[in-house]
Amino acid sequence: MEARHARYPFRQEAREAVSAAGVDLVELVRDDDAVVERAAERVTNAVTERDIGDAHPDDRVELLSYPVARVLVSIVDEHVLVRRYAAAEAQAAFDRFDADLRASDTELKSVSGPDITVEEFLAEFGLDAQVRETADGYDVGVGAYLPLSASLKDEQWRLVHRALDGGDVPVSETELHHLLQQAVEDRVADGLPLTVPDEITDELGPQVGEIRGVLDDLDLTRDIDIVVPELFPPCMKNLLERVRAGDHLPHHSRFAITAFLGNIGLETDEIVDLYEVNPGFGEEMTRYQTDHIKGETSPTEYTAPACATMKSYGDCVNPDALCEHISHPLSYYEAKIDDADEEEAIDWRERDDGDDAEPDESEEGA
Ligand code: SF4
Repeated sequence: MEARHARYPFRQEAREAVSAAGVDLVELVRDDDAVVERAAERVTNAVTERDIGDAHPDDRVELLSYPVARVLVSIVDEHVLVRRYAAAEAQAAFDRFDADLRASDTELKSVSGPDITVEEFLAEFGLDAQVRETADGYDVGVGAYLPLSASLKDEQWRLVHRALDGGDVPVSETELHHLLQQAVEDRVADGLPLTVPDEITDELGPQVGEIRGVLDDLDLTRDIDIVVPELFPPCMKNLLERVRAGDHLPHHSRFAITAFLGNIGLETDEIVDLYEVNPGFGEEMTRYQTDHIKGETSPTEYTAPACATMKSYGDCVNPDALCEHISHPLSYYEAKIDDADEEEAIDWRERDDGDDAEPDESEEGA
């Protein structure tokens, strides 16, 4: 097992090195505390810091912690965890190969990471025939560019902002590295969750508990400030439709949809406007309750209930396939927002259909 295997554990040659070493996964998780500890750190750091933490000084531990980390992610089986973990591994890969590949052309080579070339990385992801070096950077075939850039949020990646050169998209060296980062993220996420034998699951019980605890403490409202009703989880779509249809919601349902809307960035005024169509609407009381839930007039910003609570109150309606991999409506929404392209993720409040604070007709009462 070499340093380059530990540095890039998602590569085929790293997998082969693990396989050639005849590592038994059951024995590994039972007997090797250093590997299990580093694997758990990769995963928990991915959730809390969006990185995998510092590499272990022992290449063997660092390399073997990667397959064990994938096993841990699989046992927990939460969509938000798979996404954050894959993104964190890809970020670490970017940081490493951005440094290594630049150094491979300079005298820094001997003091940087292992000797690795961009050609090797391109071949790793089957991109060698579609990427060509130019005087200014690289030309990437549009067929390879589109799937890799689709998940990148910045405007600069949209084809409309690119000077297409025949069937190629010119990119800088840094941009090529970001496209490779996306290829790494796709590969890390590929196949997750794995099917894990019971004897491995039993051995990793404490680490799984630790990761679940970190997920429970995750502030799901921290990163969300966009309102796209089409991407709401089925339960919240249902509650929003009932509000808009003028249904009188029980207290727990009203709390759930109000907290959810507040958590994703709606202001009190916008939430109060929604309730206006409700029979018995009282602006003062609605505003008071909304401010309280949002933490404007109370010490706490309340978070929308988790799926278990929604189910116990009968508010979990029409769960779909994604619901099987999440435990909180906000995780569902975060996943949908992350997967949506720019056209799908237009904030309700920024739509130029003349109705910038309310859902359109297709949502209302549907
Ligand atoms: S499983 Fe959770 S997110 Fe899905 S509909 Fe039920 S409560 Fe909502």
